[in-house]
Amino acid sequence: TAAAIELITPPVQIQYTKHLINGQFVDAASGKTFPTYDPRTGEVIAHVAEGDAEDINRAVAAARKAFDEGPWPKMSAYERSRILLRFADLVEKHSEELAALETWNNGKPYEQAAHAELPMLARLFYYYAGWADKIHGLTVPADGPYHVQTLHEPIGVAGQIIPWNFPLLMFAWKVGPALACGNTIVLKTAEQTPLTALYVAKLFQEAGLPPGVLNIVSGYGPTAGAALASHMDVDKIAFTGSTDTGKIILELAAKSNLKPVTLELGGKSPFIICEDADIDKAVELAHFALFFNQGQCCCAGSRTFVHERVYDEFLEKAKARALKRTVGDPFKKGVEQGPQIDSEQFQKPTVFSNVQDDMLIAQDEIFGPVQSILKFKELDEVVRRANSTRYGLAAGVFTRSVDTANTLTRALRAGTVWVNCFDVFDAAIPFGGYKMSGIGREKGIYSLHNYLQVKAVVTPLKNA
Ligand code: ADP
Repeated sequence: TAAAIELITPPVQIQYTKHLINGQFVDAASGKTFPTYDPRTGEVIAHVAEGDAEDINRAVAAARKAFDEGPWPKMSAYERSRILLRFADLVEKHSEELAALETWNNGKPYEQAAHAELPMLARLFYYYAGWADKIHGLTVPADGPYHVQTLHEPIGVAGQIIPWNFPLLMFAWKVGPALACGNTIVLKTAEQTPLTALYVAKLFQEAGLPPGVLNIVSGYGPTAGAALASHMDVDKIAFTGSTDTGKIILELAAKSNLKPVTLELGGKSPFIICEDADIDKAVELAHFALFFNQGQCCCAGSRTFVHERVYDEFLEKAKARALKRTVGDPFKKGVEQGPQIDSEQFQKPTVFSNVQDDMLIAQDEIFGPVQSILKFKELDEVVRRANSTRYGLAAGVFTRSVDTANTLTRALRAGTVWVNCFDVFDAAIPFGGYKMSGIGREKGIYSLHNYLQVKAVVTPLKNA
């Protein structure tokens, strides 16, 4: 039980709990706050300003002004790039406190936050700093005597709504491309994890980001989130979370001002282990694919398909690996798994064998440490079964054969296919879903399209 875990005091103080609007930390308009917790114990660690429609109005007004009157979109792209670089430097400088705060509020292992996620956070901003001054349009060879060019302009005020499973990385995936393209932002954090975004927003100010360019509102989805998605002065909305909420966001956007929407939603990703795979490696990777971050990944490899010839061996080893998993206080060295985000805490990860395709655990996203293992015989069959879900976020393929890998990567309907690896994230690699896993791509060059308008400028040529 949680009480049996020896608790370690996080080496960080909570400094920022108010909304950041127009460069100032401010109370909610209503004066309300809501509690945020340490998932290790369920203890309240801070009371945070609770935003609603009025706070969203204020934040959008600040972002609107910073966009329409400048200085952000009017600043030179090089200056914007420099601010992003300075911010990434500050993230590196403060990475230990940030990792501690992330673990404290989310429950993920500190070692994972400090050694994988914080370096990735800085890396994403170094990457987007590189794009800021390399965004430009085309000269277009149109028929007739015209000079035609395209201008790639920022969209305006971007509304962004993020989940609790990777609070800082989701912040980076959203904020990085939006700022690089010259937009201003109102971001609503998840109600479970409001703390780290406020901390890094403060670092952005130190880096020289002008007031009003990045506004952060804490609060709940149906109030603050819905107000943002339906705001008439927000020019674009980007959302990561559940498929059900994604549908609501799309509807709110459509019913208000038809703002374009990007969605990164749920998954039920297949992980396919072929008969020629190195079984020990496959066991380790399949385990990682599912259990990473307490199973709380939208792309978790939650349907493990194993070829019938290696099924028994795989199953035995997968069970042994799950039992060996070190569950405990996420601040402790060597702990692979901390508490789930909410009070419902699992002491042992779970593995289900002999799962059938139509069982609920093979169809619904669980978002927890539950691995379903399914048996297959033929490649055609496993492709059909792997694709028979409403989701299409990611897939894993484990084989030594190039032919098998090529066949599967082309046949799987998913936004990412990892071959002989899983959960490889990189600032330059696009991420997003087919089918009900989402709309659009984040990261990489593709993410820029979400935050740019294309303007065609047509001028007759003199004396032509
Ligand atoms: P999860 O199951 O991962 O918590 P949600 O989709 O419920 O996924 O939450 C992801 C984000 O969406 C959070 O910031 C949450 O506050 C927000 N959210 C939830 N419901 C709504 C809604 N009706 N309108 C706008 N945002 C919402």
